[in-house]
Amino acid sequence: MDMKNTIFRLLIVIFIIAFFNSMLLEKLYNREDKLKYIQIKTMEEAERIAEFNVTDESIKEIKAYCDTNDIDFIEFFSSYMKYNNYEVDSVSYDYNEEYYQGVNDIDAVKKLYSMVLSDIQYFPIPKNKKDDSRNYWYCNSWLADRSYGGERKHYGTDIMDTENERGYFPIVSMTDGKVEKIGWLELGGWRIGIRAEHGGYFYYAHLDKYAKGIKKGSSVKAGDIIGYMGDSGYGEEGTCGKFEVHLHLGISLPIEYISDEFWINPYWILRYMEDSKITKSF
Ligand SMILES: [Zn+2]
Repeated sequence: MDMKNTIFRLLIVIFIIAFFNSMLLEKLYNREDKLKYIQIKTMEEAERIAEFNVTDESIKEIKAYCDTNDIDFIEFFSSYMKYNNYEVDSVSYDYNEEYYQGVNDIDAVKKLYSMVLSDIQYFPIPKNKKDDSRNYWYCNSWLADRSYGGERKHYGTDIMDTENERGYFPIVSMTDGKVEKIGWLELGGWRIGIRAEHGGYFYYAHLDKYAKGIKKGSSVKAGDIIGYMGDSGYGEEGTCGKFEVHLHLGISLPIEYISDEFWINPYWILRYMEDSKITKSF
């Protein structure tokens, strides 16, 4: 093989490597750029925010502290979470202004928490005016293994009807908002996705049926009945009975750079909202 030929081939190989490298770099660069834009420095930080690892009692204590001292709840909550590396089991009473001042770059975190906490008004299951003895239960199953449709993780909370009766529990919207998605999904069954004012997407899945008049683009008020708890999903349209009757509640935030769907753990939020139920007769 002559020398020229070898050099030529080498150049082509180098060119190809450089080309793919630059594509990769550009992708990384764009991603970094967007990360900077919302000021969350690492994916690890985003994942910790998504875990929403703060007990309902802690959220309540922080809220009460803010109300008493006339402090902006979202701002203080964001600072407090970030300061504690996004994990709060119990609130220590000696916190003070230092928490605020020690935490910089809080805008992005504030925006994320605001999408979750600013719009929620009601627990998704109402209190029954006629008979409040019927129970439901749920646990923290964030990222638990799921196998239907391939190995995957659980990105929500399942609220189970103890009597496993489809259509018994009405489901109300936790927020004001617009019905962005409605209809059948193989995984979610009859589902509704409602976009709340600050940007959070509240996803209610496996419904038995929808409330009358609900359609894509409808405006809903917090506390409006949007459908009924069921066991739809895991198959072609209309499939039900593949699992126990429950509401799958998911909350996702519109953060393009992470993925199309950035879900956060609704478990502690639901616990926090247990005291905020609307009363209905059913
Ligand atoms: Zn679920």
